[in-house]
Order: sequence, then C-alpha cells, then structure tokens
Amino acid sequence: MKLIEGKPIAAAVYEECARELELLKAAGVTPGLAVVLVGEDPASQAYVGMKDKKCKELGLHSVKLERPATISQRDLEALVEELNTDDSIHGILVQMPLPGDLDADAVIKKIAPEKDVDGLHPQNLGKIASEDPTGFAPCTPFGSQRMLIESGIETSGKSVVIVGRSLLVGKSLALLMMGKGPGANATVTVAHSRTKDLAAVTREADILVAAIGVPHFITADMVKDGAVVIDVGINRVEDATAKRGYRLVGDVDFDAVAEKCEAITPVPGGVGVMTIAMLMANTIRAAKLKAGL
Ligand code: NDP
Repeated sequence: MKLIEGKPIAAAVYEECARELELLKAAGVTPGLAVVLVGEDPASQAYVGMKDKKCKELGLHSVKLERPATISQRDLEALVEELNTDDSIHGILVQMPLPGDLDADAVIKKIAPEKDVDGLHPQNLGKIASEDPTGFAPCTPFGSQRMLIESGIETSGKSVVIVGRSLLVGKSLALLMMGKGPGANATVTVAHSRTKDLAAVTREADILVAAIGVPHFITADMVKDGAVVIDVGINRVEDATAKRGYRLVGDVDFDAVAEKCEAITPVPGGVGVMTIAMLMANTIRAAKLKAGL
C-alpha cells in the first residue's frame, strides 16, 4: 500500500508559487488574500489561521477579517463588495459554513468572479463545467485531483466513485474528473445519502473518494481490492488522551481500508494540506491575471 501524503505534493505546488511570486515581485505586485471568518466555530478558526500563516510564509499580503455570528446578511455582503474594489486584494475567501441563517450562496454570488479563489461562484463553476481554463477550480477538489496526478495514478478510463455531492467537494470534483486532460477522463459516479446499496456502488470504484463528513464511514467491505482511496473528510472525534481533547479522522476507516487498497491518503496530512496549497496557487494566479502577466 502506498501512502499519498499531501506535504511533498504541496511542496511542489509551493515551489511553483515561489517562481510565480518572483515574476510578480519584479512587476511590483504582491498578491493579497482576504479571508472572512464569521462566528467562532473552532474548526473554521483553525482553517483560517492555517491559511493566514501560509500566506505570510510565502510572502503574500494576508488580511483576516473576523466578524461576529450576529452580522447581518447585508453587512456581510457589503464587506465582500468592499473587498471586490480593494486593489490590494486579489483573492477573497469566505470561510464556510456560515453560522445561523446567513445565506452562503448569496454571499458567494457577491464575490467578484476574478477574485473568487475558492472557485465557488457560479461563473467559475460554469467555467469548470465547460472546461474553460480561465476559471478557478474549488481548492479541495483541485487539490485532490493534483494528488492523483502527482502520484502517477491513472484516471483515464477508470471508474471513479465520489461519495458526497456538495458543490464544495463532491460535485466539483466530479466535474473536474469527468473532463479531459490530466487527472481526468474518468467515468464518474457521484453517490449520496439517497444512493441505494451504497456499498455495491463503492465496490465498483477503481478510485474511491470519500467526502461525507462522517468519521470512518467507508469500511473495508465497501472497497475493492487494489482501489485508490482519497479521503477528503476531516472530522473531530473526542479523544481524552489527545492534548486538545480530540483528534482528526477522515471519512475512511483508515487501518482496515489501507490493508486492501493500492494507495490511500491519510487524515490529517492528506487532502487538507493540498486545499491550502491550491488556495495559494489560485490567489497567485488571480494576481497574475489582474496584472496581465
Ligand atoms: P456536506 O455536508 O456539504 O456534504 C456531505 C455529502 O455526504 C452530502 O452530499 C451527503 O448526501 C453525503 N452523505 C452524508 N451522509 C451520507 C450517507 N450516510 N451515505 C451517503 N452519503 C452521505 O460536506 P462537505 O462536502 O462540505 O464535506 C465533506 C467532508 O469533507 C467533511 O468531513 C469536511 O470536513 C471535509 N472537508 C475537507 C476539506 C479539506 O480540505 N480536506 C475541505 C472541505 C470539506 P446528501 O447530499 O444526500 O445529504
């Protein structure tokens, strides 16, 4: 069994980022990323902190905007519009999920598509669907696909089963992998909570992607011998022996599944690492496009 770790693949992405940053620097441009965090969800706080840290490490201009969960829809949309017109900001990410009754779709639609580095604006999703390379792909699916490419895993003609149909992950990854080009040309099935006999569907997969949000949901009996397994899930489970009182696990029952598959991503240290790397790459590309480079 081969472990597909995120770190070395992300390192290659960061090397590309460093080269692009040199070009931008020579043109007097520092890419800027604004991350909007609403409320105090601990997992969201952790993700935003990691994104901010990585921006600073790479030398990007990073702005973290924290707002209370009581912010109105109007004020949140006004904040996004302000960032749309801020020339020092090339990428805008509103950390999901939003708390309470805030309408995430409406907020995403307010983001200028050329600054939508999280790739969730309908215009960017449409570009991904129509294989227009000027769009931004959502970071997690984009990173998952990059992991397959960099690990030398053939996707062309393979049966890919994705469990989970969110725009953020499952549906977008399906669009990417059913397209043409590297890491694509696959025969894609998207399964979800209404799928009948899910295990029979997942057992058909040459490449199985879990994006469910339920710890250890994918058990060994759901996986074909020799399959490649991409675990997108990041779940906190209580663990009294851990310093923070919890540990992170994926959607895959890693120990049992690892025994029968050809390759598998770990959690933590897998797809999550790539999500941040692709966010940096998208932000740098947004700055390049704006500068006409
Ligand atoms: P969502 O809750 O938006 O979507 C979950 C999907 O799983 C839904 O399509 C749902 O089906 C499906 N599902 C839930 N229960 C079952 C079930 N019993 N059987 C079959 N399908 C089921 O989650 P996200 O897509 O946002 O995230 C999924 C996981 O990925 C989470 O653990 C999240 O933390 C993680 N994640 C990780 C990232 C990373 O960087 N690695 C980034 C983003 C997310 P239905 O639509 O029918 O309800």
